[in-house]
Amino acid sequence: MSNQILVVVEHLKGNIEDITFEMLGKGKEISGSTGGELVALLMGSGVDGMASQLAIADKVIYVDDVNLAEYNPEAYGKTVSAVVTNIQPKMVMIGNTSMGMDIAGGVSVDQNMPFIAYVSGISADGNNVTSSLYGGKMNVDSSPSGDGLIISVVAGSFPADAGRADGSPDVETANAPDLSNLSLQFKQLIEPESGDVDITTQEILVSVGRGIQSDENLPMAEELAAKLGGAVSCSRPIVDNKWLSKTRQVGKSGLKVKPKLYLTLGISGAPEHIEGMKDADLIIAVNTDPNAPIFDYAHYGVVQDIFDLIPALNDKL
Ligand SMILES: Cc1cc2nc3c(=O)[nH]c(=O)nc-3n(C[C@H](O)[C@H](O)[C@H](O)COP(=O)(O)OP(=O)(O)OC[C@H]3O[C@@H](n4cnc5c(N)ncnc54)[C@H](O)[C@@H]3O)c2cc1C
Repeated sequence: MSNQILVVVEHLKGNIEDITFEMLGKGKEISGSTGGELVALLMGSGVDGMASQLAIADKVIYVDDVNLAEYNPEAYGKTVSAVVTNIQPKMVMIGNTSMGMDIAGGVSVDQNMPFIAYVSGISADGNNVTSSLYGGKMNVDSSPSGDGLIISVVAGSFPADAGRADGSPDVETANAPDLSNLSLQFKQLIEPESGDVDITTQEILVSVGRGIQSDENLPMAEELAAKLGGAVSCSRPIVDNKWLSKTRQVGKSGLKVKPKLYLTLGISGAPEHIEGMKDADLIIAVNTDPNAPIFDYAHYGVVQDIFDLIPALNDKL
């Protein structure tokens, strides 16, 4: 077992996702305190130019293969597993994202390595890991023993800026494993339909969650958004109920937003939602439950019934 920390780089349409930089920053802290090495694993086809953004790593392992050109859980999982077999890292960090959740379990079984999901905290020596479960309602501390550990990190847990560094890291090219007989094939990247308000460019978002109770109550949130000069966005249950279109959903399986003001109305603050809005300049949360996890992320919080607050705000504005 080496003293290396392997960070699996996640990228989409030419952009490295913030979760990668979060893990690189945290990985650097751990490798710094344990005298280890931070290694970034970059997979794709013709994406070697991205390595320059990973200069915080002591080394970048780059695997180029036509079967890695588009994200494919089977191809990516096999490649991560092959690299783990080669370098035997003491820790593998994967994003607790749609991609990471696809592949981490398979790599764990393949490598016979323990896997801790929903990680939101790691001690500086890497020996104590905190997982945030049940939408952030319960934290579980683990002190894994033995060699080798896979963790999937919840987006928003660590500062991304700590992992950003441009430069010329050492790049080692590695061959992909045999990816010729994949049972999964990439077909199509489905993006949100256009034609609606683009919530990613709005400076002010009034975001409604299940606390809004019914689509009949949406007009009061729309009135508030209009009076503030912004637009309405939402959590996933609102889209699942077909009260708003998918183009309004913020979060892991929705859109990432970075407005100047993000006002949440009846949103609990599940990690999948936080992933999409944690970078807003100012977060104000309204929720009747003082223990709602959203208050851990909000700059200002109001413990109040939205059906009292929204009409009062609308009157005032
Ligand atoms: C793979 C995966 C991807 C996901 N992707 C996303 C995603 O992209 N975006 C997303 O949002 N979720 C996503 N989810 C779902 C996520 O886990 C949560 O279930 C969801 O975010 C919860 O939405 P919510 O906060 O609106 O509802 P709830 O968790 O039910 O919270 C409702 C909140 O409203 C409060 N409330 C109730 N009544 C009032 C009132 N009158 N006044 C004030 N407060 C009130 C309650 O106290 C509660 O905190 C995903 C889940 C999975 C597994």
